[in-house]
Amino acid sequence: MELQTQEISIPLLKEKEVRLFIKRIDKVHPFVSGNKWFKLKYNLLEAKKQNYKTLLTFGGAYSNHIAATAFAAHEKGLKSIGVIRGEEHFPLNPTLQFARENGMELHYVSRSEYREKAAPDFLEKLKAKFGSFYLIPEGGTNELAIQGTAEILEENDTQDYICCAVGTGGTISGIINASNPKQTVIGFPAIKGIDALEKDIESWVNSTNYKFINTYIGKGYAKTSEELVQFINEFNTACNIPLDAIYTGKMMLGVLDLIGKDYFPKGSSILAIHTGGLQGNKGMSERLGVKLPS
Ligand SMILES: *Cc1c(COP(=O)(O)O)cnc(C)c1O
Repeated sequence: MELQTQEISIPLLKEKEVRLFIKRIDKVHPFVSGNKWFKLKYNLLEAKKQNYKTLLTFGGAYSNHIAATAFAAHEKGLKSIGVIRGEEHFPLNPTLQFARENGMELHYVSRSEYREKAAPDFLEKLKAKFGSFYLIPEGGTNELAIQGTAEILEENDTQDYICCAVGTGGTISGIINASNPKQTVIGFPAIKGIDALEKDIESWVNSTNYKFINTYIGKGYAKTSEELVQFINEFNTACNIPLDAIYTGKMMLGVLDLIGKDYFPKGSSILAIHTGGLQGNKGMSERLGVKLPS
């Protein structure tokens, strides 16, 4: 697969003498978040190898991972079951509608049950109901996922800084493992409370050339602000690149804000990873009554 990188050209970059590139892994598929595709790649191969007929995973009602798993399972001729947090609502939101159209069986559980989703007896109950399945954790992060996300960063991605949005940390962990020790990988968390996350990431990576900047989370995961919506729309107008409101919008807002504050030395180059997530904009726009690009 050919991954595209494009250079951003806006007056701020000229003024600050830094170069900014964006790697469009959102282009991997119109509905499957780019990074989710990489996370699923080796898990699908493993499921096939072990002769599983069904994938089961977890997610919220707007989850990029749910949409990606449904699509990828369908494409590989596997059944998929999505254990969804919360109650069923009709009509289905665009994410769940897409999952259904790709053959995913949706199984709703209460928020309190959902919290127990990794507990052995909860998994036993699911096995009794659905038969055997290949389990993919919430957000899709496991060892095989990190093997996949390492392929996001390629040999000619030689920029000084690599910037990436962070949810569970699976994507940035692969990128860190594929980076050159002279590069600095910067993670922009989308979720508050990154202490546990930092521990996880530490256990998944083999180098220390990374840091987190957690001042661009805004009001929290899946919460958006007028400022963020406005930024996403302005960026789309200026650069013709749609961003999502949960991950990539916050990251890019952070990257440009840091450039404005001279965080990056003159003459340096930055690669921002567009991880995708655009499938979520439709549901987000409907739910919040805002207008986001899709
Ligand atoms: C899921 C997701 C992320 C976060 O990936 P993690 O591997 O969970 O850190 C970032 N960007 C987009 C668009 C996503 O869908």
